[in-house]
Amino acid sequence: MVAKKLSILFLFVLCFNCTPPEVKKPIKETQATKPANVILLIGDGMGLTQLSSSFYFGTTKPNFSRFKSIGLSNVIAANSKITDSASGATAFASGIKTYNGAIGVDMDKIQVETIVEVLSKEGYATGLISTSSITHATPASFYAHVENRNQEEAIAAQMSTSTIDFFAGGGLKFFQKRKDGTNLLTALTSNGFIVNTTELSSSLEVDKKYGFLLADEGMPKMIEGRGPFLSEATQLALNYFELQEKPFFLMIESSQIDWGGHDNKADYLIKEVLDFDDVIGKVLDFAEERGNTLVIVTADHETGGFSLSPEVIGKNPKGEDIHDYNRIHPTFSTSGHSATLIPVLAFGPQSELFIGFYENNDIYYKMRAALGK
Ligand code: MG
Ligand code: ZN
Repeated sequence: MVAKKLSILFLFVLCFNCTPPEVKKPIKETQATKPANVILLIGDGMGLTQLSSSFYFGTTKPNFSRFKSIGLSNVIAANSKITDSASGATAFASGIKTYNGAIGVDMDKIQVETIVEVLSKEGYATGLISTSSITHATPASFYAHVENRNQEEAIAAQMSTSTIDFFAGGGLKFFQKRKDGTNLLTALTSNGFIVNTTELSSSLEVDKKYGFLLADEGMPKMIEGRGPFLSEATQLALNYFELQEKPFFLMIESSQIDWGGHDNKADYLIKEVLDFDDVIGKVLDFAEERGNTLVIVTADHETGGFSLSPEVIGKNPKGEDIHDYNRIHPTFSTSGHSATLIPVLAFGPQSELFIGFYENNDIYYKMRAALGK
């Protein structure tokens, strides 16, 4: 018996001394390659509770659940404990903490280069899609530089000379019905844009730029019949970028999750979240198939202090609430933004960079690190 044990041990030691067999370690694609493309999806006002609502109010398993690299970001602004969309998006776009209201400028109101500007110089194609006006704080922070987010006419003027190649959203009036009387659609056209103010057209050409301005200000709400605009604009952008045969950076914003939160309207908010989840599915399908695209989903801040509370169905003899834990009754604690940490979901090459706890402006540096820049 002892001899048998010894011989097993001997064999074991022998095995350790011989050359190990050729075993290929499973290397995660995310560790092996750098992404060619980055798609940043921003759910304005989408905290963890807004995201969670897709698990309770959707009809299918949410696409949010397809992510494996998950982090949390702290969204404090430079001059305020609670950020707004302007300083929040400037943190993602330019890597700085700045004051609330700032679009692409720092605390001294000095312009800071955006990731769109950085990557355009290096030959990337770039795009922005939004369900607000394209001049609203979130998309504006990726191409414009103004002291205050309310300067939407000035922001529109900067779009026509920006390095953006594809954009889709609302905001036509800031281009066309301006106080200075100029029609910026002419400026867009003379800067190489094909502009469409009526529909998402599908005939795309190489080396052309495209601008879709499909509402005077924000696009309609989902609950008022917007339909699959965000998914269709995203698909059109992906088709456009494939045609250009260049690496690309695309920012897609679901703007109105925030507006539903400000209005304290759960139905408005949840329908926007479910629409955003559909878009995320489309983007993940693309990224899975190509294998060369880093996808990041996050938010600038939470809006509404949204809570998935249990329904109160009565009082007990002591006067305390009786809850039905099988029924969710969404509630809100504020009509403003809240200070909660924000989830960051990442997929694709280098997505593991987004695991952990960090500041909102670190997302900029993580995107650059992922691209090796
Ligand atoms: Mg926004
Ligand atoms: Zn807001």
